[in-house]
Amino acid sequence: CAAAALIVRHRMKSSGKWAKAMAILKEFEDKCSTPISKLRQVADAMTVEMHAGLASEGGSKLKMLISYVDNLPTGDEHGLFYALDLGGTNFRVLRVLLGGKEGRVLKQEFTEVSIPPNLMVSTSNELFDFIAAELAKFVATEGEDFHLSPGRQRELGFTFSFPVKQTSINSGNIITWSKGFSIADAVGQDVVSELTKAMERKGVDMRVAALVNDTIGTLAGGKYDNNDVVAAVILGTGTNAAYVERAHAIPKWHGLLPKSGEMVINMEWGNFRSSHLPMTEYDQALDNESLNPGDHIFEKIISGMYLGDIVRRVLLRMAEEAAFFGDTVPPKLRIPLVLRTPDMSAMHHDTSPDLRVVGTKMKDILGITNTSLKTRKVVVELCNIVASRGARLSAAGILGILKKLGKDTIKEGEKQKTVIAMDGGLYEHYTEFSKCLEGTLNELLGEEVAKNIDIIHANDGSGVGAALLAASHSQYPEVEES
Ligand code: BGC
Ligand code: MG
Repeated sequence: CAAAALIVRHRMKSSGKWAKAMAILKEFEDKCSTPISKLRQVADAMTVEMHAGLASEGGSKLKMLISYVDNLPTGDEHGLFYALDLGGTNFRVLRVLLGGKEGRVLKQEFTEVSIPPNLMVSTSNELFDFIAAELAKFVATEGEDFHLSPGRQRELGFTFSFPVKQTSINSGNIITWSKGFSIADAVGQDVVSELTKAMERKGVDMRVAALVNDTIGTLAGGKYDNNDVVAAVILGTGTNAAYVERAHAIPKWHGLLPKSGEMVINMEWGNFRSSHLPMTEYDQALDNESLNPGDHIFEKIISGMYLGDIVRRVLLRMAEEAAFFGDTVPPKLRIPLVLRTPDMSAMHHDTSPDLRVVGTKMKDILGITNTSLKTRKVVVELCNIVASRGARLSAAGILGILKKLGKDTIKEGEKQKTVIAMDGGLYEHYTEFSKCLEGTLNELLGEEVAKNIDIIHANDGSGVGAALLAASHSQYPEVEES
């Protein structure tokens, strides 16, 4: 994933237009380049910002949010718990029957609902009423086999995947929105009380026991399955990471020292920025035209919401300035976000000799018919440039965390593995991206250290993770049910 295949370009000796298009592509590629030396600078900057964000409130672009999770699941959690996962284009509701050490997850059911786009930019009441109504429907389908003890209120782990300044394990105020959500009247509000009021309006009797970011849920779910998990990374619509920090190493924390001596930190790394990041004019324009200009710059270079749109922007420039798709600019190329990352991924993974998938996508999504094979090859190359940059920078971010944890070097006699739980559609489905990320991380760490670091896919950790955290923060004392 380091160097794109330059073959297409060099072989083509043709018209001035083609040469111009290739010049645009080449300039973009150069600006996107991420040699190992640059990735090390990014990783170092990440580590520095982590320290700064932990030192004081507002000390860094990295918010390093305190999660109030000072204990990760032990495996003893038991009983019925709900989880609600809100943070992208879909939200999910789950119920989980936890069986303690012996049983683990005995049973789970979930439903997934896509959020009507107009609700992402509406009002707090409209969004939460919609969610509470769906939750009410789901609760109504609960079977007796989920064994809610008589007289017991249902409890919920609420995964809310936006920046929140928590005030306790089950309260916190929305700092900003991201990923295409923008609901002004919710900013500054306690998201748990917004949800709770909506549940009351919709007749759902449920208590939010834990409010968690998706990275925290993934960390909890990951740790439940693998005790060596120390950090979680989400690469999906948005991107973020969380990890277990020593409470002593958090100067801005003035609360009681947790018994465990640890505190999970939600980095909000999507908001990281650094002069070392390879930014292009396309990234600049994407940021300017986004719902959150100036924010979440790292996320806008890396995550699933944006990668396809970067590709679109470069193609548009090639169409406008080099007639890349003929004499007129295909109108659909001008529509923001029309080229989605899953479609970009499908084109990037096209292995058919004539790049049939690329041809179909260009036609169906962008209305561009009759693309030549060499044009399609350029499209694939462009996807590769954009995906590789994102994947390599993600690897650099992970190296930054490992450095902060002191896990980027070999310690004498160290036997314990260091495991990072990953989740998110980009990581899960965009194979070239995840392959590139893992390859780059290994390269950065070197063979010896890399042997000790495992990356695992915590499949839907965040859903079960939130239920587990609801269980460990239940209002009912932990007694073994008979
Ligand atoms: C949000 C994070 C979230 C990440 C991944 C970002 O846009 O700010 O809170 O963890 O997306 O879902
Ligand atoms: Mg998610």
